[in-house]
Amino acid sequence: VLPAQALRLDDRFASSLPEMAVPWQAEEAPEPRLLALNEPLAAELGLDPAVLRAPEGLRLLVGTAVPEGARPVAQAYSGHQFGGYSPRLGDGRALLLGELVGADGTLRDLHLKGSGRTPFARGGDGLAAVGPMLREYVISEAMHALGIPTTRALAVVATGRSVRRETLLPGAVLARVASSHLRVGSFQYARATDDVDLLRRLADVAIERHGVVVGDGGAADAGNRYLALFDAVVGVQASLVARWMLVGFVHGVMNTDNMTISGETIDYGPCAFMEAYDPDTVYSSIDEGGRYRYGNQPLAAEWNLARLAEALLPLIADDAEQAIALAVETLKTFRPRYDAAFAEGMRAKLGLPADADDDAVAGLVDDLLGLLRAGHVDWTSFFRRLADAARGDAEPVRLLFLDLAGIDGWLERWRALVPDGAAMDRVNPVYIPRNHLVEEALDAATAGDLTLLEELLEVLGSPFDERPDHERYAEPAPQDFGATFRTFCGT
Ligand code: AMP
Ligand code: MG
Ligand code: MG
Repeated sequence: VLPAQALRLDDRFASSLPEMAVPWQAEEAPEPRLLALNEPLAAELGLDPAVLRAPEGLRLLVGTAVPEGARPVAQAYSGHQFGGYSPRLGDGRALLLGELVGADGTLRDLHLKGSGRTPFARGGDGLAAVGPMLREYVISEAMHALGIPTTRALAVVATGRSVRRETLLPGAVLARVASSHLRVGSFQYARATDDVDLLRRLADVAIERHGVVVGDGGAADAGNRYLALFDAVVGVQASLVARWMLVGFVHGVMNTDNMTISGETIDYGPCAFMEAYDPDTVYSSIDEGGRYRYGNQPLAAEWNLARLAEALLPLIADDAEQAIALAVETLKTFRPRYDAAFAEGMRAKLGLPADADDDAVAGLVDDLLGLLRAGHVDWTSFFRRLADAARGDAEPVRLLFLDLAGIDGWLERWRALVPDGAAMDRVNPVYIPRNHLVEEALDAATAGDLTLLEELLEVLGSPFDERPDHERYAEPAPQDFGATFRTFCGT
């Protein structure tokens, strides 16, 4: 047992939704060894990094020491995976340790991934390998630094136990922090029990936890708190997916169990960042139909939100027809909200003033996407070099294109709208977690050398600040890497 002052956790989820929480404990970790610790996040959470680094702290971070009063649980949820419904998914290799309570009363989940089999493990071994847990650490922290809502990574600790995949790999546990782990799949699970009281308690927990405002008229919710909840999720997801699209993020496995109610990105499995602009970009080895390809993400999100609406129907109105009508009306706001968020983001990426004509900007964006796609132009490099063009030097951006007449014509129209290069540099990152750099750092870390990982984390922590001597972090993958790169789920 840890000293109570080291860490205090609440058991709010477990006590308010016991039907969805299976008390469980982590598997033994023979030799815990710290691979990464997020000191700024620890400080933000009021945790002492020195305590976490100590042997007893490491046991906490792998789940073998449980703070006084905490009640670790595996959470139950359902989910549509690639369109097919699974009634019983749940935390197969994860545990909710409990909630950290902030000075202002805000709750944040402390959760472990890779902590051993649970009753939801089905055929899985309950474990995780060092590489994929560090991958989640790197990418989620990069997303945070990019200003995109996400779960956070507090630490990765190697367990000293090996994990059998194609080969034997070192095992690890990721300690993750989230504003909650409530998912669309949590609501599907509650709905499937046919226990409307459970469904209502879950919705009430979500409303309270995520500060859903009822009666703000945003969804014409007319004081209907459950419609207000749905409206809030539609809003945060429209905004989140627009942010992904603007930065070129491909989630890769947008199943309903991997979509949060909070609007945070969750579950960094087969995700990757697009380099050459192409809406058909897919990285996941299991996404054969391209369901979750880059350009389909808004549609996939809308589809998931329709599943959330179905789960909420009994709460939205007693009359089924009326409930459907209200839910559909709210769901229909997804597209305009997404479009508005994407358009606003593109306007900022292009450095255009708020008073630039909407239709002129929309036309510019459409034509630009056509040029980028035809030219296989690196999404991230383009916007950064475009800022140079705003400052008078168009050569760097022109070098990215073969169709010079095309880009010259486009640049002329863009310049006429008076872009601001300095503003562009504040929204267009120099550094994203490029796939070849991430793989290189993870391979080295798995082999025991953490230097590349630490350098990568450092660069990605300030993605808008260009660093001297770090050119290679800004460059796309060498051609032979990019064409064959695939990501894998659940490793
Ligand atoms: P994901 O695709 O990562 O969202 O995972 C889908 C489901 O598979 C969740 O219920 C996970 O808990 C479960 N799962 C993934 N990997 C494992 C594993 N190695 N052992 C047990 N369960 C797993
Ligand atoms: Mg998942
Ligand atoms: Mg996963």
